Formats: sequence, C-alpha cells, structure tokens
Amino acid sequence: MLLEVFIIQKGTSFLLARKAFTKKEIRMDGSLFSGMISAISLFTNELKIGEIQFFETNDYRILIHSWKKILIVGIVEEKDEDEFIISTLKKIAQEFWKQFQYSLENWNGDTAVFENFPITIDEIFYSEFAQFYIERNYPNNVISVIHSVQYKFEPHILRFIGIRIGEARSNTISQKQMKKIISFGQDFPEKQILKLVEKEINHFSISEVESKEVAGKKSIQITLKICPICRGIHDNSFSCDFIIGFIHGYLNGIKLGFSFNVFESECHAHGDQYCVFSAILQQEK
Ligand SMILES: [Zn+2]
Repeated sequence: MLLEVFIIQKGTSFLLARKAFTKKEIRMDGSLFSGMISAISLFTNELKIGEIQFFETNDYRILIHSWKKILIVGIVEEKDEDEFIISTLKKIAQEFWKQFQYSLENWNGDTAVFENFPITIDEIFYSEFAQFYIERNYPNNVISVIHSVQYKFEPHILRFIGIRIGEARSNTISQKQMKKIISFGQDFPEKQILKLVEKEINHFSISEVESKEVAGKKSIQITLKICPICRGIHDNSFSCDFIIGFIHGYLNGIKLGFSFNVFESECHAHGDQYCVFSAILQQEK
C-alpha cells in the first residue's frame, strides 16, 4: 500500500506538497527527505547512469517519478505493487503540473498555493485503486478487495471507490440499451432502470429491486438478503459504504437527467434482517 506521497521541486529540492495515506504516518523530516531524494536524483543524472526510479530500505520501498520540473515520490510497504503505484505517481505528476506549472515559474516559496492539492492526490489514488484492483477483473474480486481494505480505508473512501466503480459500470450501458430506455418516453423509465440496477447488484449478491414512494418522492429500494459486505460483522456504527457508493455512482452515472440520493436504511450489521438501500429520485439534474 502507498503510505505517503511527496512532491518536490527539482533543482531547489523544495518540498511542495505531501500527503500521508495511513494513520500510521511516517514521522519523517520532509525537507531532509526532499533534499536526499533531490541529491540522489541529481547524482544519477550527473553520472549519466539514467534516472533513479526506486530504492529500498529495510522497511520501505521508495519509488521516484521525474516529470518536467518536479519529482513525485511514493513510499510503499509492499513490493508487488509497483505497476499500480507508478501509474498513480504519473497521474499525480501530470495533474500537479497542469495546475501549477505557471505558479511554479514565479513561485515565492509559499507552499500555501498547493495546500489543497492533497485532496486531488486522494482522488487520483483511490480512482486508480478502483480501476486497478476492481474494474480490471470486474466482477471477479470486487468483494475480496473491499474486504481487504474495509478496515484500512475510511468509510467515505469506501463510498468514493463504490461511486467510481458504479460510474464505470453505468458507462457500460450500451447506446442501444439507452435508446431503448429513452424511447419509452416516460418521465422516469422506472421499469428499465430497475432491471438494469438488479442486473448490476446481482453481481454482488441476489437482490430484490423495487420501486417505492418515500415521502412523496419516487425511490428505488434495493434489498440484499445476504449482503457480502457486512457478512459476519456486528457493529451499529458500520454501514455498507461501498454498496451505497456503487448504487449512487451507477444511478447518477446513467445520463438521463435524473439524480438520486442514496442511503442504507437497514443493515444486517445493525441486527436488521437484510441490508436495504434506498435511492430517492431528486429533481432533474
Ligand atoms: Zn449493510
């Protein structure tokens, strides 16, 4: 897992931004670390032995991606994730450059300019995570991947990953299917949407999908009789965030001009019989 990311200005070796991913923060002096990375990178260039891409200590693996006038450094625990981490570092580098290329030209040394960038790092990292570990072999290991990170990632992150996967799935609805849905010409093509949702959710577990009215608003109710997410968990503060996100991403990803608010109204982890999710139809987007 990626533990921390550093963005360093080449030449000056200034630390521009830094983002830790785990609660277990590596208590390291950022400017000292930046200085070391810049020095190594400078030496390998001077010696013309090519750019350094990684090195290892007893505890960590340090991956370095050089891009334009910045160095993006990732500190990693496991050794078998290079492809995923490097692809993430590349995307972070490109986005940082796109946003701050001009600020860096006349930069006065105030890192406040970059202070919101860690939010973007988060988004890139977890989107890449969703793509790499879930989308690629979908739906094969979706549940096992979620189980493996359920206690590592914050609930809002699990929801974010769910949203990304749901959106990606909504993009697999073919033009032909979309035309069919639209051709019904109703205000809201309920039947067709229910069918699509059911097909998707059945990838996780057998579901029941029906339409309901909640406080005068149309809604879609999805019941998982054996929810794979909270199976074996008894915890009142738990919720099946990945599924909530997934339903949200999927329904809102269907470009029909409708938007939905999604929540879990009952959860097996709280002692309810089943996990029940409600998607309330909001006004048109
Ligand atoms: Zn649940």
